[in-house]
Amino acid sequence: MRLVLLGAPGAGKGTQAKKIIEKYPMPQISTGDLLRAAVAAGTELGKEAKAVMDRGELVPDSVVLGMVQERLKHDDCKSGYILDGFPRNTRQAEALDEMLGKLGMSLTAALSVDVPLENLMKRLTGRRTCKACGQMFNIFFGAPKKEGSCDKCGGELFQRDDDKEETIRKRLDVYTAQTAPLIDYYGKKNILKAVDGASGTIDEIFVKVCSALGLK
Ligand code: AMP
Repeated sequence: MRLVLLGAPGAGKGTQAKKIIEKYPMPQISTGDLLRAAVAAGTELGKEAKAVMDRGELVPDSVVLGMVQERLKHDDCKSGYILDGFPRNTRQAEALDEMLGKLGMSLTAALSVDVPLENLMKRLTGRRTCKACGQMFNIFFGAPKKEGSCDKCGGELFQRDDDKEETIRKRLDVYTAQTAPLIDYYGKKNILKAVDGASGTIDEIFVKVCSALGLK
């Protein structure tokens, strides 16, 4: 399965992607995670990307496309993957189609996790991530049992630099202007599946995700 996950920042794409790969092992390719790794490694690309990310804007297409193209060449991508946070605009979506077309492949589905924009601010300001295993928590909706510490592995939790109110506003504007049109893009290609990501628990939403994707 070659899957694209769509949804606004904080809609729960990453959380659902993690649940999908727990049940159906395949790589979860998050361009945000790849960029944060480059920032942490202090590479030239990372330094440039950090400034853009801290403003809540999109990193240039050429950078992201190069990263994705490289990642998709790895052996673990042969039988499928989940793209999380990519594509973010029509240019990236077209480039992905082109990339796959050259390999005689196409996407299986684009899954949109729908949450009204007004619900997202609290989700994002409350978000905390485990430094060790990447598990996500929310101090308002799904707080860890022990403050600052991961329930799964005991790792330290951190707040992303771009999960601050000012940056979040910008990220939501960028989503509306540049990423939301992809819902139409994939709708026209007849591969769009949408689930309501606003009501129910993470597990209840996961049941809807599996049903939308035809996963048992
Ligand atoms: P995310 O973890 O997906 O919310 O991404 C965090 C930030 O990384 C975004 O606000 C962008 O600055 C950058 N980013 C992630 N994915 C992309 C992409 N596909 N295109 C451009 N910038 C991206």
